[in-house]
Amino acid sequence: MLPSYPTTMENSYTLLAVLIWLAIGFYFGLFFINRILEPLYIYIFRRPIYLYWYPVIKKLSPERQKILTDNVPFYRRLSPQHKKYFEHRVVGFLESYQFYGKNELVVTDEIYVMIASAYVMLTFGMRLFKTNVFNKIIIYPDSYQSTISNKLHNGEFNPQLKAIVFSWNHFKRGYLKGDDNLNLGIHEFTHALHQHGLRRGDQSAIIFADRYARIMKEVKHPPNAQRLIDSEYFRIYAYTNDYEFLAVILEHFFETPHVFEKEFPQLFQNVKRMINYR
Ligand SMILES: [Zn+2]
Repeated sequence: MLPSYPTTMENSYTLLAVLIWLAIGFYFGLFFINRILEPLYIYIFRRPIYLYWYPVIKKLSPERQKILTDNVPFYRRLSPQHKKYFEHRVVGFLESYQFYGKNELVVTDEIYVMIASAYVMLTFGMRLFKTNVFNKIIIYPDSYQSTISNKLHNGEFNPQLKAIVFSWNHFKRGYLKGDDNLNLGIHEFTHALHQHGLRRGDQSAIIFADRYARIMKEVKHPPNAQRLIDSEYFRIYAYTNDYEFLAVILEHFFETPHVFEKEFPQLFQNVKRMINYR
């Protein structure tokens, strides 16, 4: 009897079987990396295995890209590849959160891009950078009456409404002078990140919470606490409570990193690791 050769039909079955095995292998590979290898890696090294992996990169329109280039020094300093990741995240942010203009404020491209970029910058060292502790951004043209305190506010994180609220006028001021340690965007988004870090269990939150606990332990050690106050580097508002302290030190981290590192090297390193900055 002549040896039989595979028919075309058998070939396509073989191809299908190979594809199915590849898909199963890919799935278990991802499962292994995300559920077993990475938690172990995070436990040991306190950082994610990888930060950016986007098979399809989302792009900003040239107009919106120009807003980033013109106004965000952090973006300008990135490598071409990291600029793409940054833009991808800005687009992802804008797709995930609703923006509402109040008191007849029209949400312009500049408002969309600048607010998204503040959040993306703060979380650029995290792989899982989005959070569900807020789902909307409310923007007033200027200071507004807060529903929490009934006082005039320039910005807030309202966990009940799941909202971040900004006075656009004050948000913009954060960028006019890049080294005055005042940045409303970073400040309010840090409040949200703080809550996310302490309440959620994803890998970014685990890294954040671990380092945050260390920071608070060190700054509450009486001699350290006194040195912080005496130095007058952080504005006095930082000592209102733990939430405000964290928000203010993150403003300093992005506005005057060199001074921060020189004044409080250990605190600076802990903040850096908390948000996984290199
Ligand atoms: Zn605050």
